[in-house]
Amino acid sequence: MTIAVDFDGTIVEHEYPKIGKPIPFALDVLKKLQQDEHHKLIMWTMREGKLLQEAIDYCENNGLTFYAYNKNYPDEEFQKGDPRKLGADVYIDDRNIGGLPDWGIIYKIIKSGSNTIPDYDFMLDSDRPAVKKNWLIQLGEALDKQSGKRY
Ligand SMILES: [Mg+2]
Repeated sequence: MTIAVDFDGTIVEHEYPKIGKPIPFALDVLKKLQQDEHHKLIMWTMREGKLLQEAIDYCENNGLTFYAYNKNYPDEEFQKGDPRKLGADVYIDDRNIGGLPDWGIIYKIIKSGSNTIPDYDFMLDSDRPAVKKNWLIQLGEALDKQSGKRY
């Protein structure tokens, strides 16, 4: 598949024009998709010029070179009137409706050969550890339990 991947807010936290902190597993998953699964990765970002080069350098210094940057193929020349949208099969972007899924889930979705989330159990079947509820929620539940409320 051809996979278009945003940079700010997707590979790193959104600190544009600076480079934010890495988003956990983003680069690991992308490298795996490229090297093991042989997907074609295109960086699809609003960055251009020096800021684009900083994003390219950041990824390359972390072992990831994309097939192309803001283009369908490396030496694509845009003509006036050409569509700006890439011909990608899947887009990974923090501006997705519903936000950016956990990168473990992104990997599973692409590995499944689909571009949709099959079902809710699939989402729950993530390898990450369960998140503990914070103490306020625990306290609320304890109080509700005491007063006889059930979930
Ligand atoms: Mg973004």
